[in-house]
Amino acid sequence: MRNKIVAGNWKMNNDLLQTEELLLKLQEKKFKKGVQVMVAPTFTNLWHSVKKLKNSEIEVIAQNMHFAEKGAYTGEISASMLNGVGVNTVILGHSERREYFNEEDSLLKKKVDAALEHDMTLIFCFGEKLEDRELGHHFEVVRDQVKNALFHLKENDWSSVILAYEPVWAIGTGETATPEQAQEMHHFVRNLITQGYSKDIANEVSILYGGSVKPDNAREIFTKADVDGGLIGGASLDASTFSQIVNSF
Ligand code: PEP
Repeated sequence: MRNKIVAGNWKMNNDLLQTEELLLKLQEKKFKKGVQVMVAPTFTNLWHSVKKLKNSEIEVIAQNMHFAEKGAYTGEISASMLNGVGVNTVILGHSERREYFNEEDSLLKKKVDAALEHDMTLIFCFGEKLEDRELGHHFEVVRDQVKNALFHLKENDWSSVILAYEPVWAIGTGETATPEQAQEMHHFVRNLITQGYSKDIANEVSILYGGSVKPDNAREIFTKADVDGGLIGGASLDASTFSQIVNSF
């Protein structure tokens, strides 16, 4: 059985006090059993969040990391630095990293390897832009993103990989992929993994959907056969809204 997961990506929002308030509100919420809940505060709030959530089932994860172990990379954070503050899961390849920080497949491949070397779980994001979909290229774009960064992995690495399909045109825009569009792409990606690896591996990988998920559309998306949860941006900044999404399963 695949893990059901809902992860909140807080992006560059919330200072320490606001983070603390949101964590307190989240701790008061009852989340549906069997759903793994994760939140990704900014780097500066990770350590504090890990300590605050010590007795909670909510996992604190990172939004990004560098591939190198250490060195002259001003402003960057390594996998072992994340491990050192109790963070063992990282989001990689978010479309905002690809778009604003020029993160390409070759760089993401190095980040994937660094995360796995540190026994971290990674949430690997991919998704097409609007123009790719309008031109009918969305399957090719997604295929290349997934293959280029992940298809060098060994079979047993896949147990540390979570995938997140996030069509760029649906992120922060209020426009959501229809449940059918999400299912179609998730099914396509699962088939890719079956072809490149095996049916068993493909069936074990959780594939999350991300892009304007809200309490009123989450249930319909989460009921699709190949959708195993969500990566939530804007709607994860409010504890009630986020918990309603988690409880939509
Ligand atoms: C995201 O940034 O991963 C995301 C899905 O954002 P939003 O939910 O705001 O569209």
